[in-house]
Amino acid sequence: MPDFSQLPSVETLAKRLTGESNLPRPLVTGFVKRRLSEWRTRLAEGEAADKASIEQEIQSGLQDFASSRLQPVINATGVIIHTNLGRSPLGQRASETLSKVATGYSNLEFNLLDGKRGKRAGYLETALAVLLETEAATAVNNCAAALVLTLRTLISSEKNEVIVSRGELVEIGGGFRIPEVLETSGAKLVEVGATNKTHLKDYADAISDRTALILKVHRSNFYLEGFTDEPDVTEISSLAHNHGIPLVEDLGSGAVMNTDQLAPIDHEPTPQDALRNGIDLVIFSGDKLLGGPQAGIIAGNADLVERIKSEPFFRAVRCDKLILTVLQECIDDYLACKGDTKPRLPVLDFLSTPVQDLRVRAEKISSQLKDLSPRITIVEALSRTGGGTMPRAEIPSIALQIESDGMSPTKLAHSLRRATPAVVGYVSDDTFLLNLRTVFPSQDQSIVNVLLEVLQ
Ligand SMILES: *Cc1c(COP(=O)(O)O)cnc(C)c1O
Repeated sequence: MPDFSQLPSVETLAKRLTGESNLPRPLVTGFVKRRLSEWRTRLAEGEAADKASIEQEIQSGLQDFASSRLQPVINATGVIIHTNLGRSPLGQRASETLSKVATGYSNLEFNLLDGKRGKRAGYLETALAVLLETEAATAVNNCAAALVLTLRTLISSEKNEVIVSRGELVEIGGGFRIPEVLETSGAKLVEVGATNKTHLKDYADAISDRTALILKVHRSNFYLEGFTDEPDVTEISSLAHNHGIPLVEDLGSGAVMNTDQLAPIDHEPTPQDALRNGIDLVIFSGDKLLGGPQAGIIAGNADLVERIKSEPFFRAVRCDKLILTVLQECIDDYLACKGDTKPRLPVLDFLSTPVQDLRVRAEKISSQLKDLSPRITIVEALSRTGGGTMPRAEIPSIALQIESDGMSPTKLAHSLRRATPAVVGYVSDDTFLLNLRTVFPSQDQSIVNVLLEVLQ
């Protein structure tokens, strides 16, 4: 019979750890119970451990668990649309309206003029259509949902074939692959062309009386270079329309303004460009270069948008009032400054911050840390747009390079991630870097405080 006398009691340990962790007591008790039961097995198998080391291990396990609670972090990676860090931060206007709508009632589906049931997202849909210079638009939970919903709507049992170029059978990330999305939605994939070259004739030869639509997918996360060719969108559009077939494009990021005017990056095709060139429906994400909440926007031909909204599956992927509020404010941000300057959205601010501004901030931060023994150097660095957009784009930036004799770069990175607020930097060429392009100026002081705490 193994000796379990070194195991702490659930109640005593849970009580102490609840006080230290600020987590709800039942959560801590459950955690402690599970860990103690694992320890019982380990002790029975002959592992040796004393009470203190068992308590210590459970305590640090609980800290790991507590750090997985959703919480704000400072993004010092320089990657502007960082999918793991929540993609695009919201603008001021969105966050203010959001807190008011979130904490009270709203006219979500209520007509304030006649006091009857109103149209959900009516204002947003009109505003989106105006911004995108097209007939109609709507929004669902994300771009993946928008694509599945669009495919489901446009295919039927007689016409279920979707034509896609082999150069556009993309994997987006997180296992999201175009062929599998098509399968999920009940469509039959008809691949045309080769990886590097697709001709108009390839599309033409694939069209049959079973064709439901032609789908184009923006190569948002990789580049095709060298011996490559593809028909112009206007040519594919004429072909599709001569056969009475809709042409749909998944744009992925869907920068609504010319982001190449903000930073030295390639031109990202806008939904307006695509629609002008004859695409019937564009689909894109709300939380990539648009700078809004997680959403999938569908815009274009009014009849097609109406069909999509009438499809029963629409209900399963519709946005809730919080997302609708944030998206509405974001679109109004664009409309309010249209043709003039850029809207005040963090993603666009980060893209366009001059390197000189970053350098001034870096100097201010490092001057407050000059008494520390670790070396803090201001270095030139590169930023990326991220979020699977424009993999080639490198935006000049400034970083704080931190070298400590007592701590390896990975240990430094770990300590800063465990600080409050968590600061996420990166290790490059065996040094630890905090890239300032994605840090809000209002967070500079927090960086100073965290560095003082961790490095002292
Ligand atoms: C990012 C991306 C998606 C997925 O968008 P979500 O909003 O994350 O669902 C789909 N298609 C393309 C081309 C993308 O770049």
